[in-house]
Amino acid sequence: MADTLDDQSWAMNHERCNMARQGKVELWWVQCEDHSHTGEVYILAGDRYGRRLGKTVNKEYAEFDFMADSVVDEVLEIANMMGMEQEYPARSDCIESLLRTICDPAPSGQRYDFLFKVSCPSCSSLKIRYAPYDPPRFKIIDMPLATHVNWDNLTQEAKTQLVFDTLKRVGCLKN
Ligand SMILES: [Zn+2]
Repeated sequence: MADTLDDQSWAMNHERCNMARQGKVELWWVQCEDHSHTGEVYILAGDRYGRRLGKTVNKEYAEFDFMADSVVDEVLEIANMMGMEQEYPARSDCIESLLRTICDPAPSGQRYDFLFKVSCPSCSSLKIRYAPYDPPRFKIIDMPLATHVNWDNLTQEAKTQLVFDTLKRVGCLKN
């Protein structure tokens, strides 16, 4: 069957399988305590265990699935060898920074932030009140799985250097 597909239709099918993907999010309201901003944020709907929603400054979304993608194991092995911070919650900030670095940028060229913390959509302040709407509100959005092709193509030496540079920049190396 496959040899009946010309290059172009193969490319389209390939893209459909790997890129285009939609997912369901729940809308939560946000109220900023310092500046009275109001807004909404998207939270992954359903079981969020092992899943993270990434967002760029251009409001592009992607999902990272820790259960389905073992790249984090590879990165953590390098990071732990270098003496990455082991104490939570600092450690989760370090992992967020690594995930941001190793995942390919969005179509706009911006990188995804995979944050668990909810912040004000206007000023990014963490001093906010936020909660799901009652009754809950849902939305289907474009949400490709995050890829890490650039990372995969790096040599072991380059991977090690990238992890080191990232951890150092964000203050995640002990001593
Ligand atoms: Zn605000």
